Amino acid sequence: MGRLALTPKGFAWFQKGHPWVFRDDLEKIHDAASGAIVTLEKKNGEFLAQGFYSDRSKIVFRLVSRERGAVDREFWKGRLQRASQFRQAFVRNTTAYRLVYGESDGIPSLIVDRYGDHLVMQTLSQGADQLTPLFAEVLFELFQPVSLILRNDLSIRALEGLSQEKRILLGSLPGPVEVCEDDIRYAVDPWVGHKTGSYLDQRENRIRAGSHFRGRVLDAFCYQGLFGLHAARSAERVTCVDSSQEALDQAAENARLNALENLEFRRENIFDFLKEEMERKSRYDGINLDPPAFAKSRGDVAAASRGYKELNLRAIRLLKPGGILVTSSCSYNLSESKFLEILKDSARDAKAEMRILEKRGQGADHPVLLTFPESFYLKCFCLEKR
Ligand code: SAH
Repeated sequence: MGRLALTPKGFAWFQKGHPWVFRDDLEKIHDAASGAIVTLEKKNGEFLAQGFYSDRSKIVFRLVSRERGAVDREFWKGRLQRASQFRQAFVRNTTAYRLVYGESDGIPSLIVDRYGDHLVMQTLSQGADQLTPLFAEVLFELFQPVSLILRNDLSIRALEGLSQEKRILLGSLPGPVEVCEDDIRYAVDPWVGHKTGSYLDQRENRIRAGSHFRGRVLDAFCYQGLFGLHAARSAERVTCVDSSQEALDQAAENARLNALENLEFRRENIFDFLKEEMERKSRYDGINLDPPAFAKSRGDVAAASRGYKELNLRAIRLLKPGGILVTSSCSYNLSESKFLEILKDSARDAKAEMRILEKRGQGADHPVLLTFPESFYLKCFCLEKR
């Protein structure tokens, strides 16, 4: 078995509990093969942990276990069972949710999402990638999915020297799958939809936002229309806006699926649309802002902040007094406190006083590991304009 020896500085870092080790923190690498399970040691050879080795990434080691026991099929089966038990305890009223969330479930860089009887998997490191056949076999044994799809069409895999690919590991291509989220039904195509087909991380926020919204509501960046659909149950009228016609067609189809008739769908660039709505003197009782990640890397934060500021400022201006703003950022690189700062600046510039109704994050199926800040990326605030 390969072994990695930490520098004293690397040891101090690892002691704090973070599940990754960076290449600069290694004193020596002994016989480690790409993607293999290796042991992590102190400089003096003392055993610390086992984990995935990467011969390409800056993240040279991903923690699998602090114990010495065998990391074999039974071990992984146990981890997958625990991931599933966790969802059974904390994830309710949905047939679409994240079953495995990488490090947070003790299975580094493995994502498994469930859409009804179908599973979609992503492997984001050499270690997880090499175990693809084993994970597929155990997932089948535990859950008997009708299909298991590998959605490895992610550019981030290049950092591990892995190529982008999509494959059917089990069963056949399902086409659109109908799932439910609380009492809203929607269709997902796990082969072509964003991420593994849908934005599961917003599930709980959509349900909560839906319960806040009344009257005239705008769902900005609507994608499959899910925030809008939840809102439409209690709102008078919901306008769903997205720049993608394909997304809007799906959203409209989802509205039909739920026999909801108080939604309209508009293909617009949100930045222009918000400006035009201001000029038209349109006003809203509720606005949902769920943009794509503007800050994809640390270098993007300044430009991204300007984007978030502009969006939130315009949305706050468009709200009636007493109106509700549900605003999200899924940029990991933009911290929660920085996002709050932007919201504060937006409110000030709009000369509005905003109260925090709820401070939220990603759903319980995307659990945040305390020692792994990278696992917390989705921020969501429900605000009321006074
Ligand atoms: N709210 C959705 C997820 C939104 S994903 C949900 O809960 O499922 C982000 C969406 O923003 C995508 O559908 C993308 O097409 C759209 N988008 C990106 N930039 C945009 C822009 N400038 N104007 C309008 N829509 C945009």
